[in-house]
Amino acid sequence: MLSDIEIAQGCQMRPITEVAAAAGLDAEDLELYGKYKAKLSADVWKKTADKPDGKLVLVTAINPTPAGEGKTTTTVGLGEALAKMGKKAMIALREPSLGPVFGIKGGAAGGGYAQVVPMEDINLHFTGDMHAITAANNLLCAMLDNHMQQGNVLGIDPRRIVFTRVMDMNDRALRNITIGLGGKVNGVPREDHFMITVASEVMAILCLAKDLDDLKKRFGDILVAYTFAGKPVYARDLHAEGAMTALMRDAIKPNLVQTLEGTPALMHGGPFANIAHGCNSVQATRLAMKLADIAITEAGFGADLGAEKFMDIKCRKAGISPDCIVLVATVRALKYNGGVPKTELNTPDMSALERGICNLDAHLDNMKKFGVPVVVAINAFPTDTAEEMEFIRKHCAERGVRVALSEVFAKGGEGGEELAREVLTVLDEGKADFHMLYEDELPLEEKIRRIAKEIYGADGVTFAPAAHKELANITDMGYGSLPVCIAKTQYSLSDDASLLGRPSQFVVSVRSARLAAGAGFVVVETGAVMTMPGLPKVPAAEKIDVDNAGVITGLF
Ligand code: ADP
Ligand code: MG
Repeated sequence: MLSDIEIAQGCQMRPITEVAAAAGLDAEDLELYGKYKAKLSADVWKKTADKPDGKLVLVTAINPTPAGEGKTTTTVGLGEALAKMGKKAMIALREPSLGPVFGIKGGAAGGGYAQVVPMEDINLHFTGDMHAITAANNLLCAMLDNHMQQGNVLGIDPRRIVFTRVMDMNDRALRNITIGLGGKVNGVPREDHFMITVASEVMAILCLAKDLDDLKKRFGDILVAYTFAGKPVYARDLHAEGAMTALMRDAIKPNLVQTLEGTPALMHGGPFANIAHGCNSVQATRLAMKLADIAITEAGFGADLGAEKFMDIKCRKAGISPDCIVLVATVRALKYNGGVPKTELNTPDMSALERGICNLDAHLDNMKKFGVPVVVAINAFPTDTAEEMEFIRKHCAERGVRVALSEVFAKGGEGGEELAREVLTVLDEGKADFHMLYEDELPLEEKIRRIAKEIYGADGVTFAPAAHKELANITDMGYGSLPVCIAKTQYSLSDDASLLGRPSQFVVSVRSARLAAGAGFVVVETGAVMTMPGLPKVPAAEKIDVDNAGVITGLF
């Protein structure tokens, strides 16, 4: 089989204007970025205001192997399959970050015959949203440091700055740095840090904002530091929110691209799912629901991280809810959860599969708690045996859970028809009875406990003194009713990456907490969660190249 990039480069793309027209959009609704990419103008909202919302399908997964288990691939393939069956479907996805593209995981435009294109553009600069976010974030940092340099009227304590610079790159050397060295004219010396752009609050804000006014208000609400007297300092105190919003004027508009089969896909925003909330923008999801009868969207990592945040944060803020959940499972990830090292996942191993299937069970039990019906999608890899795939199918049947084999990677939309039929049945039945896991009023520590017990399967939670103090401080500041965004490893249901399968008898340790007042949630860090990843020994970047004609190779 051809590589992802070879398949993508072999695709005869339709002009994006045609893709848009099929979705009911005309020239005025589009801001073209070349022939194959466009941003949707704010007028589309007005035009679709009276249209009833389409159904919403959320794609999530079991706990993954480090390579990813195919949520994006399944999302794209399901959209294609529904389109093939004559349904009006639209996909909503996150934009890739350069960190994974050049690191271990590769791009985020799907795989095989279920990809969005133009693949190289999407994985590299796309329409510049990532750069705009980086610039808006770093403008705030520059204004903060300049404020201290120019007399520090607010009395900002350089030891208590909680907002950091960002860059969209895996660069571990920037995790902890010293800035402002070189004497009086070169700034106030202090410790600083870099996060990857997709972990930033600016990214989270973009993904939750309704419009430019809402974006501006949220930017103003970003907590940046505390004064020597211990008082909070917000971005609005530095008068930064207007210029930050100006930098984001175009980034706030969702991007329209197409799948290999010409199905429309919105790609907009891309927060990480461990440290941030892990879903594409509310705008893109809601527009997909307006423009199509069925919108299919993805939440990052496993359902313990992405889906929980999708429902408890995104749905809470946006007033939407899924009608069906597709839970992607792979033989590989189940074997990984059964204790097989990642180098041996291609070898058939029924007993490992039997040991690892408990991970699927945990996520099925969890999704029930949100009241949304589930279809398990077995994402078929070429190395899977028929016996292994049949085992998962039988297991689901015994539990009374809908299941379908998805071969979209190998076959595109045609390989997703069984999955699409199951999803359509669920949508027709209309049995979703959505509810969130906790109410706003529940105290922050209780929210964390509820998620840890109900979703992770923990016995309880311990709070480091610093975390306990900060949660109390956040509550005192009046933010106790915000939802919590728990930062945790994606490899385990617990906060310990080595506990695979369905761990029990463990306690989650909360290390620290941080108010993201602009985004409207409290980030809670468990274990050692990375906000600035590093590159591996052999980064994917070493294999990426471009020839003199501009043809890019080595992306995957
Ligand atoms: P996720 O969204 O869950 O992180 P992706 O859809 O991005 O996962 O897929 C991760 C990687 O696995 C991609 O490189 C993709 O091409 C590959 N992949 C996904 N599904 C399959 C499959 N069925 N067979 C082979 N490779 C696959
Ligand atoms: Mg993905």
